[in-house]
Amino acid sequence: MNYDVIIIGAGPGGIFSAYELVKENKEMKIAVFEAGHALNDRRCPIDGDKIKACIGCKSCSIMSGFGGAGAFSDGKYNITNDFGGTLHEYVGKKHALELMRYVDDINMQYGGEGTKLYSTAGSGFKTECIRHDLHLLDASVRHLGTDINYVVLGNLYDELKTKVDFYFDTPVEQIEAAEQGYVIRCQKGTVTCDKCIVSVGRSGSKWMEQVCKELSIPTHSNRVDIGVRVELPAEVFAHITDELYESKIVYRTEKYGDLVRTFCMNPKGAVVNENTNGIITVNGHSYEDPALQTKNTNFALLVAKHFSEPFKDSNGYGESIARLSNMLGGGVIVQRFGDLIRGQRSTPARIEEAFITPTLTATPGDLSLVLPKRILDGIIEMIYALDKVAPGTANDDTLLYGVEVKFYNMEVEVNENLESCYDGLYIIGDGSGITHSLSHASASGVHVARDILGK
Ligand SMILES: Cc1cc2nc3c(=O)[nH]c(=O)nc-3n(C[C@H](O)[C@H](O)[C@H](O)COP(=O)(O)OP(=O)(O)OC[C@H]3O[C@@H](n4cnc5c(N)ncnc54)[C@H](O)[C@@H]3O)c2cc1C
Repeated sequence: MNYDVIIIGAGPGGIFSAYELVKENKEMKIAVFEAGHALNDRRCPIDGDKIKACIGCKSCSIMSGFGGAGAFSDGKYNITNDFGGTLHEYVGKKHALELMRYVDDINMQYGGEGTKLYSTAGSGFKTECIRHDLHLLDASVRHLGTDINYVVLGNLYDELKTKVDFYFDTPVEQIEAAEQGYVIRCQKGTVTCDKCIVSVGRSGSKWMEQVCKELSIPTHSNRVDIGVRVELPAEVFAHITDELYESKIVYRTEKYGDLVRTFCMNPKGAVVNENTNGIITVNGHSYEDPALQTKNTNFALLVAKHFSEPFKDSNGYGESIARLSNMLGGGVIVQRFGDLIRGQRSTPARIEEAFITPTLTATPGDLSLVLPKRILDGIIEMIYALDKVAPGTANDDTLLYGVEVKFYNMEVEVNENLESCYDGLYIIGDGSGITHSLSHASASGVHVARDILGK
């Protein structure tokens, strides 16, 4: 079977390439190969009752399937070049923002209308931050919420399913460059295509590495972000989240001069497990629907680690730290800030006595046995700095879940069209190491689709 375009991965990158191709050229024969399940079949077995922790499903429904890693996410589409990826370095700042706004328009047409667009522009909170040596990054944030995000994905699938051949539960094993186009090998068979868009996200990072090795596509090592997820009563951050929803605040530590930043803020949200290649880390999300909201707000505090020669395996470093927490806690560890400061582990009794109820069942323990001193010192300094703009952050009962690791794929060498050294082989989204967010990944999909259409 031969297709004009084969898309590997049905995350935001893959979905938006398919959407744009179909919209502009009804004749094109397009297939999407996805390792995970169709949207309706995606279900994480953790129910907090019978199954409390990750059981390591063959295909993780949180990370894989139609909608990709973003399907059960908070659906925060950050329209900015300040974070979320470096797409602008390839396509230009203005164009990158245009692409992100275009994606936002489509999300609005497919079920997102009525959701709120927050903005840092003109916020007094920025001034308040600077007074305390904290730096608020500029962004507009569309918050779809986990529930509406799911509706939008369902509507996009309905739009595409009759125009595109979807192959779910079909991981691609190999890409082979043919004389004209590409041979795509899966366990179930082989297909060919003229052009191929690879959008395999973080869950496909190991496979992406293998493809680049086999095809001799140059790659560069990337950073890894390591830290914790903070959970506290929603009131502590309400004055910030009510106005901005998500605030990306950066702080330079006095002790080491490291940058610590807030990431993925979820007002009235829940802390969740994340499974990356069998390693359990922590993440968070929240719902637009008030009935599903909790009393807590959560966000990550992350420290970026870049490595220089001879060490290249930054993800391996992050994985080892996450494995340590899995070894000690059987998964994610939770500790009260007060216990951490006093050098004592949290116990089930101490967590029980706290004035906050954790939204994730995690093992009470001691994060200082897991996180390197330099990273932990940075996080503690940042918590005290945040306490000045959001008093209560440094309370004894503030919960810290560890570890949160943001793995970045190695950066694949591509040109301004996100095309590799092979004609018609595009590498996009988080799998390329260029994007790390819903908006940037989706925008990269639109960008390559337009390049293919133009050719
Ligand atoms: C819990 C959680 C919450 C998040 N919240 C936010 C948020 O609010 N805002 C934000 O901007 N970002 C968020 N993110 C990050 C965001 O989801 C990703 O940046 C985005 O999904 C990347 O899109 P992508 O298409 O590049 O890759 P992905 O979404 O990872 O999709 C890649 C797809 O490729 C498939 N695949 C992998 N290998 C193969 C293969 N060999 N063959 C076939 N298919 C394959 C995978 O199964 C997957 O479905 C969150 C992530 C998580 C896990």
